[in-house]
Amino acid sequence: MLHDCRHCVSKLLALRCNAPVSNQEAIHIMPLAASRLRIALRAIAEASAIARHVQASTHQIRRMTKDDYSPVTVADYAVQAHIALRLQEEFGTVPLVGEESAKDLLANNSGVLRDAVVEAVQRAWPGLNSNDALRAIDLGEHDASGDAYWTLDPIDGTKGFLRGGQYAISLAYIERGTVLLGVLGCPNLGRDFSRAFDQPDPTGTLFYAARGAGAYALPASQPEANPEPIRIADGRSVSEMRICESVEAAHSRQDATREIADYLKTRGAPARLDSQCKYAVVARGQADAYLRFPTSADYVEKIWDHAAGSIVAEEAGAKVTDIDGLPLDFGRGSTLQANRGIACAAPHLHALLLAAKATLFG
Ligand SMILES: [Mg+2]
Repeated sequence: MLHDCRHCVSKLLALRCNAPVSNQEAIHIMPLAASRLRIALRAIAEASAIARHVQASTHQIRRMTKDDYSPVTVADYAVQAHIALRLQEEFGTVPLVGEESAKDLLANNSGVLRDAVVEAVQRAWPGLNSNDALRAIDLGEHDASGDAYWTLDPIDGTKGFLRGGQYAISLAYIERGTVLLGVLGCPNLGRDFSRAFDQPDPTGTLFYAARGAGAYALPASQPEANPEPIRIADGRSVSEMRICESVEAAHSRQDATREIADYLKTRGAPARLDSQCKYAVVARGQADAYLRFPTSADYVEKIWDHAAGSIVAEEAGAKVTDIDGLPLDFGRGSTLQANRGIACAAPHLHALLLAAKATLFG
């Protein structure tokens, strides 16, 4: 039975007017899902503005703290505090599994950093006192137990952020081990495919997906704008395939990715960019695959590094598994401990990539 748009509480989900949802499900599920989506989009759009402000102040923050990493630290904490506050305002108690915790900021020698975080949070919450701004960071200390929670990577792609390249703000809602909703803020990724990834776009893009309802893109500054459906590039041949790579060699075994590309005689230029923006560029058909090989045998992926990106790619038509072909298991706490690495690609290319991996590396 087709869902009737007139009963949908939000245009954001109403746009999926041909979704095969029963009327009963529409009544009981759609309002809550639409409400989560609306709040998540608003929170990420606002957080993108906070991150942009911090990025624009990078030199000033570095000068004050004498620490090259301090700008991303300020953005990490401020974005987590802001998103936690926005979710709490809307939903009351927030089961949020965030990457950051405020304890390092409370050290005696962190005063300058702490002030910069509070100043960034107060841009969105003008009346908030500094203690409450700092306490908001630790609203993200939920331990990934229970039936349902949110997970957040406030700044995914640290090096990209510091370099002025690509980074992502990543928020997802997980229920009983399944990612149901994902929003990716990509403040430096524009809609123009011809723009180089290291040339920051002035507007940026929000990507989102709800399970069974497709994947969409919006300008990062306009969370209420009409979303545009996105879709993987269908039917691109293996010889034309573009594979995403991390800019930072430490994040994935790029030699393994290159060996696979050579084995498959792939001539497409690699797409090099940081963060979960890689899932988004596959989802919108700009690239065709994202492979992530663990750099050590004991490395385990974190849920916030993949939850939002994986649902955006899947809902756009990609197949997402680990490098052994196993589905990503989000039901084991804060890590993907049942999985090794990531393989995300159009289904016909995914099969070829995993077969090549099995031949070359077992
Ligand atoms: Mg992070």
